[in-house]
Amino acid sequence: MKVFISADMEGVAGVVHQEHTHRDGREHDRARTLMTEEVNAAVEGALEAGATEILINDSHGTMRNLIPELVHNEADYIIGSPKMLAMMQGIDSSYDAAILLGHHARMGQDGILNHSFSGKVVQNIKVNGVDYGEIGINAAIAGVFGVPAVLVTGCQHAASEVEQLIPSVETAIVKQTVNRYTSRNLTPVKSQALIKQKMIDALNKKDEITPFVIEGPYVVEISYLHAGFADAAEVLPIVEKVDGVTHRFESNDFITAFRYIRSLITLASPV
Ligand SMILES: [Zn+2]
Repeated sequence: MKVFISADMEGVAGVVHQEHTHRDGREHDRARTLMTEEVNAAVEGALEAGATEILINDSHGTMRNLIPELVHNEADYIIGSPKMLAMMQGIDSSYDAAILLGHHARMGQDGILNHSFSGKVVQNIKVNGVDYGEIGINAAIAGVFGVPAVLVTGCQHAASEVEQLIPSVETAIVKQTVNRYTSRNLTPVKSQALIKQKMIDALNKKDEITPFVIEGPYVVEISYLHAGFADAAEVLPIVEKVDGVTHRFESNDFITAFRYIRSLITLASPV
């Protein structure tokens, strides 16, 4: 059994602020440790459930967060960027299950440190009229390869976001969001124990969880936080302007659509 883990940071217990999540934050190295330890708990659970190959993809910010000397010895890990599939780099149809660890709610919703791919640029992403954040889009990338997203870890709002898309998914709620920058957390020992157990539960029922697929063709609308970002991104020929802050494009292929989404965010991002 091959298991893929996408490891983000905002949904890790004890992480509540840019001081944790940003490269230059004073508590960043502590948050990196907490993230690596939660990943290791997931690896432990996967091994106990029978995994024979585990790949971790570092999917937060710089994508250079996992602390190599602390990473579980039975897993391989990808760090660095850019990566064509970003938070899902490394997944393919040979995997049996995908885990979204340390994930968070989409921009505009309740949920600790909520955002959608770029908190500086993106207000919302719609695919065929439905709003998606990182959880939905990453689960759908796994779905393209026929891989079910079986476990999401993070706050209660991240859990409910995925449950609306994949009712039978397992969730490990390691913290309760109080507001965007405040949460009530499990201690590291308890959050790691919960993640390990939920990983075992999720892999034991993986055959009951269907891959999450967004059916094509795709009409994508991306809204930015202000018109200046739309102005910068409209150089991409595929886009059509919906209003001052919104672009629309169409694609028949989900991975292609995802690549356009990322291209627009990159173009819009201030240098
Ligand atoms: Zn992140």
